[in-house]
Amino acid sequence: MTNRLYYTEPYRTEFDATVVAVGVIDGRTHVTLDQTAFYPTSGGQPFDTGTLGGAAISEVIDREDGTIAHVTSGSHKIGEVVQGAIDWARRFDHMQQHTGQHVLSAAFDRLFGVRTESFHMGTLSATIDLAREVSAKQVATAEDEANRIVWEDRPVAIRFATAEEAAKLPLRKESIRTGPLRLIDVENFDLSACGGTHVARTGGIGVIAVGGSEKFRGGARVEFLCGGRALNRFRLWRDSLAATQRFLSVAPEEMAAAIERMQADSKAQQRTLRGFQEKLAIHEAHALLEKAWGQAVIIAAIEGWDAQGLKAIAVAAVAETPNLVVALFTATTPALVVIARGTAATADAGAMLKSLVAQFGGKGGGRPDLAQGGGLNGTMAQFQDALQLLLPQ
Ligand SMILES: [Zn+2]
Repeated sequence: MTNRLYYTEPYRTEFDATVVAVGVIDGRTHVTLDQTAFYPTSGGQPFDTGTLGGAAISEVIDREDGTIAHVTSGSHKIGEVVQGAIDWARRFDHMQQHTGQHVLSAAFDRLFGVRTESFHMGTLSATIDLAREVSAKQVATAEDEANRIVWEDRPVAIRFATAEEAAKLPLRKESIRTGPLRLIDVENFDLSACGGTHVARTGGIGVIAVGGSEKFRGGARVEFLCGGRALNRFRLWRDSLAATQRFLSVAPEEMAAAIERMQADSKAQQRTLRGFQEKLAIHEAHALLEKAWGQAVIIAAIEGWDAQGLKAIAVAAVAETPNLVVALFTATTPALVVIARGTAATADAGAMLKSLVAQFGGKGGGRPDLAQGGGLNGTMAQFQDALQLLLPQ
């Protein structure tokens, strides 16, 4: 068994210990000490990092036999006395999140009788999974209650009890552990069996902010951020809001409505533009027919039109000249193409397009009277040559 200093001294960052075992597992050195302040991954809380004898600790593992393995880049001998130092910023962050979790879970439990099934601490935020669904109003009420407890700065005591004693105590969740229990007591608010590290008073949590909640496995998953993490999230949102505000020039609370208005305006403009484009397409078709007067085939590149515009021009042209075949390309590389034929023409627009795609790449398809495609890599001269071969002579 490794003596866990963090059980009774969660604020301790440096310690001396004696190496009791050294092993190599999967090429990594695992060092076991007689005592440690390093917290190993367990109970939803990630391990501490830091140094042991000056060498970095990359992972801390809670072993089945009650010992703790320190994965290190250094080399140590059994019996050697080493000095350990934990990364306090990381540990304190974990203490804020973990204590905040106790308070938030207790708030849901006390206010609405909703139990917390599990807790997970990620690198940016933490989540609790609740046994049943909760409304947005319930989440907000629990958040308020949790922060009331934070701001009252209540003591968070560490107590030890036998299993028998614990059985008589009003624990929020029955413990599945056997033997003596370590209890975390948030004064007059929450009593839980827990092996994690916690702040000494609730004020150390700073603030508990819910990031969001969603339905999850018949219950709810609530994301929350405590202390420094809440501040970091606030900064991230503040900066992105400020950046958005430079474009929209409205207050944050009016931003959603402003974007909705812009989207509606944009759709209306697109409709208007489409109407003009259709009218202009008819004029463009006339110009094309005049230039190619009497020809049965028009193969041309037209600038300034998108696929829909090309289609409108081609359709307008063949509508006026039933024996005409029209192939219109954009003047871009790769090119878009629309092929249309009049009701009296016999060419197969779909087959012509297929052949173009086979020769010049891209994709597309269509019917014998109308086909369109894009992504064609070739010059107008090449397209013209290819199409002339495909047309009925
Ligand atoms: Zn805990």
